[in-house]
Amino acid sequence: MMGLGMRFRALVAAVGVLFLAVTVDAVADSKVNSVRLWRAPDNTRLVFDLTGPVQHSVFTLTAPDRLVIDINGATLGAPLNVNTSNTPITAMRSAQRTPTDLRVVIDLKKAVTPKSFSLAPNAQYGNRLVVDLFDNAADAAPPPAPTPSVATVPAVPVTPTEPAIKLPPAPAGKRDIVVVIDAGHGGEDPGASGSRGQREKDVVLQIARETQRQVNGMKGFRAELTRTGDYFIPLRGRTEIARKKGADLFVSIHADAAPSAAAFGASVFALSDRGATSETARWLADSENRSDLIGGAGNVSLDDKDRMLAGVLLDLSMTASLTSSLNVGQKVLSNIGRVTPLHKQRVEQAGFMVLKSPDIPSILVETGFISNANEASKLAASNHQQALARSISSGVRQFFQQNPPPGTYIAWLRDSGKIVQGPRDHRVNPGETLAMIAVRYQVSPATLRSANSLSSDELKIGQHLTIPSTELAAKE
Ligand SMILES: [Zn+2]
Repeated sequence: MMGLGMRFRALVAAVGVLFLAVTVDAVADSKVNSVRLWRAPDNTRLVFDLTGPVQHSVFTLTAPDRLVIDINGATLGAPLNVNTSNTPITAMRSAQRTPTDLRVVIDLKKAVTPKSFSLAPNAQYGNRLVVDLFDNAADAAPPPAPTPSVATVPAVPVTPTEPAIKLPPAPAGKRDIVVVIDAGHGGEDPGASGSRGQREKDVVLQIARETQRQVNGMKGFRAELTRTGDYFIPLRGRTEIARKKGADLFVSIHADAAPSAAAFGASVFALSDRGATSETARWLADSENRSDLIGGAGNVSLDDKDRMLAGVLLDLSMTASLTSSLNVGQKVLSNIGRVTPLHKQRVEQAGFMVLKSPDIPSILVETGFISNANEASKLAASNHQQALARSISSGVRQFFQQNPPPGTYIAWLRDSGKIVQGPRDHRVNPGETLAMIAVRYQVSPATLRSANSLSSDELKIGQHLTIPSTELAAKE
């Protein structure tokens, strides 16, 4: 019996070796055709494009600091040229160690912590090897100096090991309401694309930045961005940033694509934990959630404990924030409906991963269909981006004026006997000037100009102006 078992195991081992040999042979002719690089606030991502699957290993060397990437079963198909400015990388070189084993050596200015994984082909790319170089916390560069304008203060970089960011102390009970604005996709993950090469990741970052500028211009509010450039953040990482920044609201900004080029219109989504309210919603949630597979978050950056804890918290407090999400979503949707056609007249619900913050009201705005030629060119135009941002910031303000979190300036305004006159819409009548309208609503002409992004005082009859909110003494 024992003998039989031993022989059986020996056979299994032999077959195993045979398979291994076949596997190595089969992948020996993969080529590394290019390398792409993305710089994020706390890491540098290298993506090697391959013609087939490979095995790999990564290790670091010191004095001087280097990172060695051994790619087994591959040869170099083209020179590895990449711009490494603003990264810890000083040079990248490669050598063929054996006919099938390629070694890439990366010279570094300072030590990094590497993380690597392979990605299978998808609709956009073939086999890839991803190597993330995380800046070591101790020598991470200090955040860039703040600029004078509040609208362009860069987000503080977040690293996985960094403790929660301490917000500057505000006067007791008068803190700002924090709105975290999330530009979808980025870096390795371009999102949807238009027929003229418009890319969702670029368009939504522009809209997110403009929304941030506008929200920062509203007294009692502060806006932060999850991503400030062209790099990838995993979906769960985005909600973590929101939590670290103390978000009162999370707004994720996207642009759609649909199989039908005729599909058009903007939509606003809140989370559904029961399944999507429509087929479209389900389809969209699937395609947005696929982002993590494209960008390569996979199982890399989260352990199972985090996942389980997140699930428990989700069940405990999702209901309260869902009510708020639907409320703020409806206000944003109504405002968007004034500047662009709507895909659906009410807030839709779907299982978007990025909306799964148990304690933070969260909405996802699909600003239009980039797969529709007409909407794609609108989405790329700065005046339309401003109008979309205005709709989002107005909706957010209207929601919080009705539902100010305790301890905020907006709550103080309400509680201290002042009332806030919310933003209104004014349609320009014949003979009206900007100055006349300013007097009528008791706001300054400058406020009116900036609220409507006007470059001159010329108005057209029938033009819609947003009258920003004003504080008024409450009538007894
Ligand atoms: Zn998207």
